[in-house]
Amino acid sequence: MFEHLHPLPQDPILSMLADYRADTHPNKLDLGIGVYKDEQGNTPIMQAVKDAESRLLTTEQSKSYTAPAGTPAYNQLASALVFGADHPALKDQRIVSAQTPGGCGALRMGAEFLRGCSQKSRVWVSLPTWANHIPLLAGAGLEIAEYPYYDYATKGIQFEAMLKTLEQASAGDFILLHGCCHNPSGADLNREQWHAVADLMARKGLIPFVDMAYQGLGNGLEEDAFGVRLLAQRFPEMLVATSCSKNFGLYRERTGTLFIVAANRAEAETAGSQLFSKIRSHYSMPPAHGAAIVETILSDTALTASWERELAAMRERIQGLRQQLVAAITASGIDGDFTFIQQQLGMFSFLGITPQQVEQLRQDYSIYMINSSRMNVAGLNQDSIDYFVSALTEVLS
Ligand code: PMP
Repeated sequence: MFEHLHPLPQDPILSMLADYRADTHPNKLDLGIGVYKDEQGNTPIMQAVKDAESRLLTTEQSKSYTAPAGTPAYNQLASALVFGADHPALKDQRIVSAQTPGGCGALRMGAEFLRGCSQKSRVWVSLPTWANHIPLLAGAGLEIAEYPYYDYATKGIQFEAMLKTLEQASAGDFILLHGCCHNPSGADLNREQWHAVADLMARKGLIPFVDMAYQGLGNGLEEDAFGVRLLAQRFPEMLVATSCSKNFGLYRERTGTLFIVAANRAEAETAGSQLFSKIRSHYSMPPAHGAAIVETILSDTALTASWERELAAMRERIQGLRQQLVAAITASGIDGDFTFIQQQLGMFSFLGITPQQVEQLRQDYSIYMINSSRMNVAGLNQDSIDYFVSALTEVLS
């Protein structure tokens, strides 16, 4: 049977990473893969994570099975982090959650749950959206529709067009929204826009599905959760997928959470039973180590403070790089307004150059970014900004 299979192309980001690793140029720059990097170009293990791991080494008693939902303590701490400990929906016990294998696991199990429990199966995603959203959601059998989001001409959100298109959605459709730090554009809804989208969704009976993979990397842990918390107050039913890959730096430990918000406690329990049954038939239960680290950090005041300090330093480094990059581009005399880069949030922005110019940056200067010109700002540092801007000047001249 296998002889009839045809090979699939490698994921473009992963094949670009392989090319980058093989490149021997002394000034090579990886602005492609979406991981946080420090000033030295490393993706370090956070100190609070190291400290939690060394505690776990002595305190962990067993590697026996947990449960499809993961551990109750992790779920409780993750809920407080995302919704805020005093959120009315938490107090009313209408949120059920599951520790998942990363944000991807949360998105996929959210989609499996929706597909299994509802006749309706259409989910609307932003145009553009993170490349893996569509395979994760469509792979569970959801039908994909798209709403306009980023405007490449104005470098901002096409908000009127977004609302106009969402008017075409029908009651029971799911709307995937990025909680903060939109990937790939870095352009986020402001508070007024969150309210307006919430009004539209409520009026039309649409169901929010929020993906928040970067809490704490935009404006701050509380500020970044504004949209999620607002929607959980206003909507009887919604889903939220989160990830600890970026804000705890736990990428390979595969740690995330899926939250189902239901109308009341009884319905949340029933929805949970459906979700846990789906999980059982997919991977049975989530990996434990990353969640144990998060649980250890968030249940200890000193470790939480250490983690928050380091997360703030990461966020501030990205914001600083955004400002320095705009200043260097402006000083270079390159034509055009690049100030949008310093208004956007999180690790990504579209530089706004053509695929040919992206290719020239790669071939002539060993600067790697994906063809859409989405760049990971955290891949820059104090030394490389000048090299990057002088290469950009050449390519754009
Ligand atoms: N959602 C978005 C928007 C992302 O960018 C990512 C990671 N790149 C994820 C979800 C999932 O992350 P992970 O599965 O690594 O936790």
